[in-house]
Amino acid sequence: MKMHPNHQQNRPKKELSPRERQEVCTGGMWQNRCPEYSPTTTQCRACGCFVNAKVKLATEKCPLGKW
Ligand code: SF4
Repeated sequence: MKMHPNHQQNRPKKELSPRERQEVCTGGMWQNRCPEYSPTTTQCRACGCFVNAKVKLATEKCPLGKW
């Protein structure tokens, strides 16, 4: 996984914005795609949810604890 320039180890886990959550799932400039994300169906294989919708809902959590 590529590291963001501001990455620090042992930093407390912060609440991620919907866009940041999306990048954890689908990948982005500083992040590889989650192996559970299916670009074909845009679903998370771990929970079956459609990621675009899931990341916007404050009550939702990543089943693998990534956000
Ligand atoms: S396991 Fe978590 S990070 Fe991976 S696609 Fe599902 S919700 Fe996203």
